Amino acid sequence: MKLKYTLSACVDCVAWAANGTIPEDRPNLLNDIHDCLGADANEVIANADGLNAHGEPYRDSEGNEIDSDHPDYELRREDWFSWSHCGCCGSSLGGMRNRLAILCK
Ligand SMILES: [Zn+2]
Repeated sequence: MKLKYTLSACVDCVAWAANGTIPEDRPNLLNDIHDCLGADANEVIANADGLNAHGEPYRDSEGNEIDSDHPDYELRREDWFSWSHCGCCGSSLGGMRNRLAILCK
């Protein structure tokens, strides 16, 4: 599969992408995702931990990939707080965001 792009997503979308969970307070989550992503909602949506906004691995100043063995691994931002819209479902609620990847089948 080929990476199309990555987006910042709310915890609801991250949980759904990880294991198909639909939160009780978001019964329309799938519809929201389809409304927000359009045809891309039919692509594979996967967790993109470890990829930056360009879908590339995080690298340190010397160009080394920051993987779990790297001393700066803890500094890599796995998730972050944001008031910006979720790029996956369009939710405007502030909250934690994490990166998801849209992969072409
Ligand atoms: Zn979302």
